[in-house]
Amino acid sequence: MMRIILHVDMDSFFSSIEVRENPEYAGKPVIVGADPKGGKGRGVVSTCSYEARRHGVRSGMPISKAYRLIPHAVFLPVNYEFYRRVSQNIMAILQKYAYKFQQVSIDEAYLDVTGKVKDYKEAEKLAKKIKAEIKRKEKLTCSIGIGPNKLVAKIASDVNKPNGLTIVKPEEVSQFLSPLPVRCIPGVGPKTEAILKDKGIKTIGQLAEMDGQLLISEFGRWGYELHRLALGIDEREVRERKDQKSIGRETTFEHDTLEPSEIYNTLDELTKKVSEDIQRKRYLYRTITLKVRLEDFTTYTRSRTLEHHTSNLTTLSSIVRDLSREFLDKEKKIRLLGVRVSGLLKIGENQTSLADFS
Ligand SMILES: [Mg+2]
Repeated sequence: MMRIILHVDMDSFFSSIEVRENPEYAGKPVIVGADPKGGKGRGVVSTCSYEARRHGVRSGMPISKAYRLIPHAVFLPVNYEFYRRVSQNIMAILQKYAYKFQQVSIDEAYLDVTGKVKDYKEAEKLAKKIKAEIKRKEKLTCSIGIGPNKLVAKIASDVNKPNGLTIVKPEEVSQFLSPLPVRCIPGVGPKTEAILKDKGIKTIGQLAEMDGQLLISEFGRWGYELHRLALGIDEREVRERKDQKSIGRETTFEHDTLEPSEIYNTLDELTKKVSEDIQRKRYLYRTITLKVRLEDFTTYTRSRTLEHHTSNLTTLSSIVRDLSREFLDKEKKIRLLGVRVSGLLKIGENQTSLADFS
């Protein structure tokens, strides 16, 4: 059966929420992320408003660079807990319109609306209704792409941002995809792009016309997928996200350090936050992983797996300290620390504590 898929993507989500909460920021370049510290700040831009994008600022860019581009921008810290609550409201709105629903990130979701609408005309009406409801209830805008599969819907949501609505019917897929750069295909990063460019392939259309066997010999299994995606073929189902696989936090030091007290304090803060996340989400963990990035950017991970699942903070904290010890003896300073737990087990509705597991 022919499917109709919507991809809904909130417009510059974090910065839009900040502008909603602080109307005096409207129309200004707003950058949510690490503290720029007058250009000396470390860490990166998390999200920025469209005004900031016009100055060349992008998500993931070092905050110091963003500061150089627009020192007069409004710089704000990431208030993740608050954004998550807004996200939950939005996901609840989206979910009720979907036959199948899949949240992909804090501000993005796929809706399979096959069966809820009978054709693309009705899908368009539904998308408008969704946009209006989000606008009315949350005072935020989103962009929606509609297509016969996830790939097309996803790319379509991105071509008319912000506040876009782009519909690509099955018979329009190849015409829609072919002029777009290969980078528009999710999964195509700088590496794949460079290899393709070497072969003279820049657009999705050129990629689609390539001999599939050649792509397979170049990229293996990914070459096969890539060719199908370029042809607009994507059979992935819209499905509820599986349970979370890990929970973690990390932080970049203001100055690279080897000072034990500073390192231990930071580890304690990270373990405390991870532990709070675990409690709130009602998980137990079994594996603890420490991530350490040194001043020369080499990155190490060290893990330990426990015999039983636990949610104990003291255990977490002492193991993390233990794992960190070898790095204190190194000559290189530490740039970043991260703490992650995995091997998660959801605590059931009726189980309230670890005692129920023993
Ligand atoms: Mg978004």
